[in-house]
Order: sequence, then C-alpha cells, then structure tokens
Amino acid sequence: MIERAESLVRDNPFMEFRLDYLSQPMTGLPKLRSFLEMHPEATIIATCRRAVNGGKLKGTVAAEVAVLLKAADLGFQLVDLEFQSVQALKATDLQELSNRVGLIISHHNFRATKKLEEQFEEMSRYPADFYKVVSTATNLYDNVVMMKFLEAHSGKHEMVGLCMGEQGIISRVLGVRAGSIFTFGAATRGEETGPGQVTASELRDVYRIDSVDAATQVYGVAGDPVEHSLSPVMMNAAFRRETVNAVYLALHAKSLKDLLACVRDIPIRGLSITMPYKQAIVAELENSDPLTRQIGACNTIVRSLEGKLYGFNTDVAGVVVPLEQRLHLAGARVLIVGAGGVARAAAFGLKAKGAEVFITNRTAEKGQTLARQAKVKYLKRPDVAKHSFDVIINATPVGMGNGKASPLEEKELNTKYLFDLVYVPAETKLTKMASAKGIQVIPGLEMFVQQGARQFEIWSGKPAPVAEMAYVVTKALERRTAEESAAEPATATRKTIRPTARRATRPAAKKPTRKTVKAARR
Ligand code: NAP
Repeated sequence: MIERAESLVRDNPFMEFRLDYLSQPMTGLPKLRSFLEMHPEATIIATCRRAVNGGKLKGTVAAEVAVLLKAADLGFQLVDLEFQSVQALKATDLQELSNRVGLIISHHNFRATKKLEEQFEEMSRYPADFYKVVSTATNLYDNVVMMKFLEAHSGKHEMVGLCMGEQGIISRVLGVRAGSIFTFGAATRGEETGPGQVTASELRDVYRIDSVDAATQVYGVAGDPVEHSLSPVMMNAAFRRETVNAVYLALHAKSLKDLLACVRDIPIRGLSITMPYKQAIVAELENSDPLTRQIGACNTIVRSLEGKLYGFNTDVAGVVVPLEQRLHLAGARVLIVGAGGVARAAAFGLKAKGAEVFITNRTAEKGQTLARQAKVKYLKRPDVAKHSFDVIINATPVGMGNGKASPLEEKELNTKYLFDLVYVPAETKLTKMASAKGIQVIPGLEMFVQQGARQFEIWSGKPAPVAEMAYVVTKALERRTAEESAAEPATATRKTIRPTARRATRPAAKKPTRKTVKAARR
C-alpha cells in the first residue's frame, strides 16, 4: 500500500487508503505514519469497510471505529464510515470520532439506484463533514436520478455521489458538475475498489474531469456493448486539441427507450450511435440528411437546445474519404463484401460519388436487396474471382478478433486497393494476403478516424484534428494489444518508486473543508 501510494502521490495528492484491504489493519497502520509525515501536502481518507457493507474487514463496528480512530491519531484528515456502522454507534462515540477527524458518512447500494432521498434524510440526521451516497446504475437514467439528487442537496450539504456499475460512467464524470465535491478513480487498471470505477489518470487525461464545469457540453457514444469503444479516447483528444469545452462519454444503453429518456434529461449535445441502434434510432429523429434517410441508418446525432434530434451518417465519409485521398471515385470499380449497415453506407456513398459499385454477400438475398435499393450490381460469390476491381472493401466482421479468418480467397483479390474495415486487429489474414500480392492496403482504422472526424466537425463547426485523432487511437490500440498479450499485469516494484527526497513532519491534521478538498482534488 505504501509503495503504491508513493508512486501515485505526486500526481494524486488526494487519496483514499482502503485499510480493510490489509490483513491486519491495526498492526499495519503505524507503518503508514512515515508516509503521512513525508507527505504533509497529501489529503488522505481512511476507510475500513466491513464485509457486510461490501468491504473486506471481517470484524465488528467497534473494530472498524477503532481502526479509524487510530488513523485519525496518525494524521489521516478524513475517515469514511458506513451509515450502518454510524447507526450502531453510541452518539458519544460518533461525536468523539467527529471531533478528532473529518467525517464522511457513506451509504453504498450495490444493487440499484433507489430511495436516495429517504436514505439521505436518515443520514443527514447525523452530523458529518461530508455525506457520500453511492448507488448502482442498472440503466443510464439512474445517472440522471443521481445527478438530480446531488443538485438538490449540494447547496446545503457537502455531498459526494456517484453510480457504480458499467452504466454509471456519466455520474462519475458529470457528478462533480452536479455538486459532488469529489469522485473516485482507481489507482491503476485492475485495482478498482468499486464496480465500474475508471482509473484516476483516465478521469483526468481522457475525460478531463478537472475542467468539467457548468458550461461543459456533453457528447457520447451510445450502444450495447460499448465498453471497449475507442471513441472516448479519440473524441476527447480532439476536443482537448481544439480547446472545445466538451466531454465525450461511453453510454452503455441496454435499450433505446433508456437512452432517449437520458438524452431528454441530460443536455447531451451530440451522440455517436453504434450497434445495435443505428437503424432503430432513425424513427426517433426530427430530421436527417437525405443520404441517412436512403441508407436507413444513422450513426451521428445532433441534439438541438430544445431537445430535437437530427441525424447524420458519417460512416459514408469514413469509407469515402480514405478512398478519395488515393483515387478518383468517379468510374472506379469497387466491390463491397457484405450487406450490413456499413456496407449500406458504403454502397450509397460510393454510388453518389459516381463509382461503379458491386456487392457480394454471404446471404445472397440480402445482398441483392441492397444492390437493388442502391442501384448497384450484385455479384454471385463464384463470379468474384472472374472480375478485377480498383477497390475491394471488406464490410463484414470476418477477421476480427484473432484475425485468422478471411472473407475472400487469395484468387479473388484482383484489385489495386484493399480496404479492410476491420481494425482490431490492425493486420488480418485478408490484409496480409493482399500485401503479399502487392495490393495497397487501407487499414480499417482510417474509416474509424474519418467517421469520427466528420462527427467532430458536425458538432463543433471546427476542422477535426485528424492527425491527433489517428495518433491517440493507434496508441490506444497498441496499449490494448500489449495489455492483452502481457502474461501478467505490470506492478510497481521498489525500483520504480523514487523515494521522496523531502522529509517533513506532518502537521496536526486539520479537518478538510469543501475548499481544501476541492483544492486537493485538483
Ligand atoms: P452488420 O450490419 O452486422 O453486417 C455484417 C455483414 O457481414 C453482413 O452482410 C453479414 O452477412 C456479413 N457476415 C457476417 N459474418 C460473416 C461471415 N462469417 N462470413 C461472411 N459474411 C459474414 O455489421 P456492420 O455494422 O455492417 O459492420 C460490419 C463490420 O464493419 C464490423 O464487424 C466491423 O468490423 C466493421 N466496421 C468498421 C468500422 C470502422 O470504423 N473501421 C465501423 C463500423 C464497422 P449476412 O447478410 O449473410 O449475415
């Protein structure tokens, strides 16, 4: 714990020590004294949550309080006491704890976001410096419930609130805007102390939580699943580069109804729509551009100030722009493999640019229907090898994952360019076969970046920082690949931790206030 804290304290002078994670908190505590003395600038919360409240301490309320009192004596400025423990304490014992250290009374609901008001009414009967209410988001709208709750009480009380769970990310980032004095981030990936927690560095670097304020515009990618989306990394980097006061979140919407309810109540300015809602969302739009209507799928939404939704399809630009950067599309012979959503965008978009478009698909009927609608040609699979093309586009998922499958055989690759829209992994069997034949390969990442760049332009009215977007996505993919292939997660070692040169005596702990905690948070 000390090693981990030493490695983090410079960038994170506001920390929580989960003392319940120590096998013997009472014995371990004195060893933390030297850390506290060496870092008088740090604000540290001591928490020793009991197993009945979701922690690891297998002990009584008395044991929990004894640890927290000892922590107070050592110089921790804040202690976090679960409400259930508060209720079990004598008023005099609670008063003693509160006299000696800043007190956070907290309540965790690991199942739902329910009865926040009733819960808080009971909690607020007990005096505390901060009230922390943590629930679990079982849908996106729960974030709205939490933020309304924070807004209602933060004027009168020092509140901390968030929703746990993968669907709670909105509250983790926007909760501070709604009145939560601080929020929680994991020290590193793999060391989360609550479901859905993101790392402190992600909160800072990706979501720029330190600059989220009342004027920050909210954007997001909505889909199911959405947790592995690279869009937040890419779009937040673009907003930062172009100094747009906006944040972009991953919204795990398990139903379109939930997403629309959330969009109504949180002033979201724009959304990227991904699987499985690209088609279903069209019926909910106030208006959309002609190509989006033809394609019947929308991947980009602009929400007006009155709440009206306007749709665009930037998958078209995602396919067309990388090709236009390499060849004249008018008259170019382009084969699209696949007849799903992206193939539709490609077919209509390329036809509009004057290309001679061919489609082939595993399910011939679906391919023929698209060919008819887009007024392009359908090729039976056995005929593909008989033709040559300027471009072949893989618009199927074949090759995703381990990259070992290919939607086409080598003899069918009679083309100048091969555009594989699969971008995880960066190299697939198809791209390797094409490269070996001397065909120029266009990586799928280019589509991802260009469709995002167009979204950025629609939302911000500024030219997109395409090079920056491509850079951060490439780096994020490399990082992910490295993480996945690493046999063991990296851990800090003694060697990696530089001891702090400065040694100082810790002054007597003062109770942190809203102001000092806010300052430490930064
Ligand atoms: P979709 O609507 O589900 O369509 C998938 C298409 O692939 C269908 O035509 C399907 O054929 C075909 N297909 C699926 N499995 C196949 C197999 N084993 N063998 C042959 N054909 C198969 O998906 P989508 O939204 O169009 O996305 C397609 C792919 O594009 C994604 O998987 C992703 O890799 C890629 N993509 C890339 C980007 C990017 O930014 N680079 C963005 C979005 C999507 P049937 O009609 O026979 O089912």
